Amino acid sequence: MKYIDPHIHMISRTTDDYQRMAYSQCAAISEPAFWAGFDRGTAQGFHDYFRHLTEFEPKRAAQFGIKHYSWLCINAKEAENVSLSREVISMIPEFLERPGVLGIGEIGLNKNTANEATIFQEHLDLAAKTNELILIHTPHLEDKYKGTRMIVDMLKNDPRVKPHRVCVDHVEEHTVKLALDNGFWCGMTLYPVTKCTPARACDIIEMVGTDRIMANSAGDWGKSDPLAVPELIQEMKRRGHKESEIKKVVYDNPLSFWRQANNWKEWPPEPSTNGVATPATAKAGY
Ligand SMILES: [Zn+2]
Repeated sequence: MKYIDPHIHMISRTTDDYQRMAYSQCAAISEPAFWAGFDRGTAQGFHDYFRHLTEFEPKRAAQFGIKHYSWLCINAKEAENVSLSREVISMIPEFLERPGVLGIGEIGLNKNTANEATIFQEHLDLAAKTNELILIHTPHLEDKYKGTRMIVDMLKNDPRVKPHRVCVDHVEEHTVKLALDNGFWCGMTLYPVTKCTPARACDIIEMVGTDRIMANSAGDWGKSDPLAVPELIQEMKRRGHKESEIKKVVYDNPLSFWRQANNWKEWPPEPSTNGVATPATAKAGY
C-alpha cells in the first residue's frame, strides 16, 4: 500500500533508507527542522540547514520517486538561547515560498521552560502573520502530559490559531484526546522502544477512530525505523481493519492536512490502471 511518512529527519538517514522506503511504496515524506545532536553556534548554521532541507534533500528523495516536503523553525532545545532564536526566526520568511515548504515546525517544548515558551509564541506569531501551517513537537516521557497541556493552552489562548491548521505530534494514549478534542490534527510516532509501538498506535486508532490522525516514523540519528509506517499498515491488516481505513491514516490524512498549506502545489494525480500516468502528471508541480 502506498503511504506517506509525515515526520522523518532524512538529513540523518542514508540513501539506502530512501531506497528501502521506495520499495515499501513510500510516496512522500515531510521533514521538520530539528535539533542536530549539538547546539548550533550561529544563525548562519541554521541558514545552511534550511538550504539543505529545501534544496538538497528534495533532490535526493526524487531519485527514488519520493516527494520531499519540509517545515522550518528553531527547535525547542536550541530555543533556550533566545537571542539566537530570534535571529533564526527573522530569516525563516525568505524560505517560506520555496517549493515544498509546508509551514512552521516542529515547534514545541522540551523541558517546558519560560524561554522555550517565549520562542514558541514568537513562532506562533510568525505563523499567524504569514498564514503558515504549524507542526508541534510534544515532549517525551514524564513531561509529555504537562508539556502537551501547556502547548494546547498557548495555542488556545492565541485567537489567530486555527486548530485545523495545526498538527500536534508524538501523541500517546494519555495525550491524543487533548489534541483531537481541541480540534487539532495529531501524529503518532512509531518508535521501536519509546513513544508508540505499531501495536499501541493501532490500539489508539481503535480507541479514537481515524479522523485527523496520522502516523510517522520520526526516523532520525537515534534508534528509529524509517519503515515504521509500513509496519503499522501490517498491524492494522492483521487486526482486520478495512483497506480504506488504513489508507486514510497512512495516506489520505497527511495529504489532507498538507493540502491546506499556503504554498501547496497540486499533488500529481494517481496513475491510471494501465500504469501509464495521465498527461497532467507531467505538468504537475512539486
Ligand atoms: Zn522530529
